[in-house]
Amino acid sequence: MNDQLTCARCGATKPADLFARHAKSATGREGFCKGCKAERQRQWRATERGRELAREAVRRHRAAEARSIPGTAAAA
Ligand SMILES: [Zn+2]
Repeated sequence: MNDQLTCARCGATKPADLFARHAKSATGREGFCKGCKAERQRQWRATERGRELAREAVRRHRAAEARSIPGTAAAA
């Protein structure tokens, strides 16, 4: 398992380990290396829509946490 993949974004050829797993892709890995994925995510979060979705994710996470605290939910 020493596959090398070429990143579709930066064009660098790197070990498959440096690409996030993606079951639906032909290679089983994403087309972007992890570095590019992080960069893409950073750029996305800098956009208005990205910030909005990030806030929404935090809100949902907090709501889920509140529900998971013992004693706050009705016992099954
Ligand atoms: Zn890359």
